[in-house]
Amino acid sequence: MGDDGHPGNPAADGPDATLEELRVRIDGLNAEILALLQARAQVVLDIGLFKQGHGLDPYDPRREEEELHTVIDTMGGPFAPADVREIFRSIFRASLDLMDRRKRQTLHVRRPDLVPAGGICVGHVAIGAGVPVLFAGPCSIETPEQMERIAAHLARYPGPKILRAGAYKPRTNPYAFQGLREEGLTILRDTARRFGLVTVTEVLDVSTLDVVAAHTDMLQVGARNMYNTELLKALGGIGKPVLLKRGFMATVEELLMSAEYILAHGNDAVVLCERGIRTFEPWTRNTLDVASVPLLKGETALPVIVDLSHALGRKDIMLPCGRAVLAAGADGLMVEVHDHPDQALSDGFQQLDLAGFDELVAGLGLDGPATAR
Ligand code: PEP
Ligand code: MN
Repeated sequence: MGDDGHPGNPAADGPDATLEELRVRIDGLNAEILALLQARAQVVLDIGLFKQGHGLDPYDPRREEEELHTVIDTMGGPFAPADVREIFRSIFRASLDLMDRRKRQTLHVRRPDLVPAGGICVGHVAIGAGVPVLFAGPCSIETPEQMERIAAHLARYPGPKILRAGAYKPRTNPYAFQGLREEGLTILRDTARRFGLVTVTEVLDVSTLDVVAAHTDMLQVGARNMYNTELLKALGGIGKPVLLKRGFMATVEELLMSAEYILAHGNDAVVLCERGIRTFEPWTRNTLDVASVPLLKGETALPVIVDLSHALGRKDIMLPCGRAVLAAGADGLMVEVHDHPDQALSDGFQQLDLAGFDELVAGLGLDGPATAR
């Protein structure tokens, strides 16, 4: 006890110091540790940039082990080697996370200038320009007459629209209708031209890319192909906009990385499409991940649309789900529409008939003159 009644000696730093003094000392040490950690983090980022520039892997477990040996070999107490190992492992983990975050910021998908002010243009239709775009049409191109009836109906829709229909169909069952292929592409192109519509259709592989690109205004990468990196790279050089659908089992980040492939290979005109993911829920064909819309929009300037038909696999809840995704910021919707869904060669159960299409767009308030949201 000191003369003034305080415990300990005010001048001392050791066991005799006051609690207040020890706390002040801890605060000072914390500040020093933090300054050192920040200085170390800056060096980590410099190393990351060097490695990136030289094509080296940012993660080097051997080097981490060397660092640990060096500090443990020269350490004093009171921490034991196991404690120090634990502390440094946390520092290494945080450093790698920091490098990852920095690297993510340099991705093409993060570029703020990615999309022109007027949106991504598919012919005369702008996506991401404030007015929701409807991607509508049958699951598959079946006959010229079927396409004629559907296109004639869709052409009357007043807002921006893109005629969708599959010529190459990626069916789960190899014995199911596989699409009219090249013949289908010609039907799609000719029908769309007659009605002044622009088109999107799926491309399944690199070998058919040129023929599909020659017949359509926009190329669709289907859910089953989101990871087809050779196709994504080839789409980088195609000079036409791409609609990239999310895989059934893909995370939001994986969808962005697939888009990155296309952008990194020279094509900025990419529109992302949420189309539901597989979960344990059997009452819808997939689970519509509404949250992916604002998540994607927070990460990239690329437009995001939502395919209600493949996400839900049913028509009765399309309207509230359509409202939800538009409220969440979607730049457009995809819906499958057929003049006789009960006779459709694929996905008949989920396709709207022509009256159902009208009801949906009226319910969404999209049947009047096109207005920005
Ligand atoms: C489609 O849009 O025709 C299609 C097959 O969808 P997905 O790839 O999302 O299953
Ligand atoms: Mn379909």
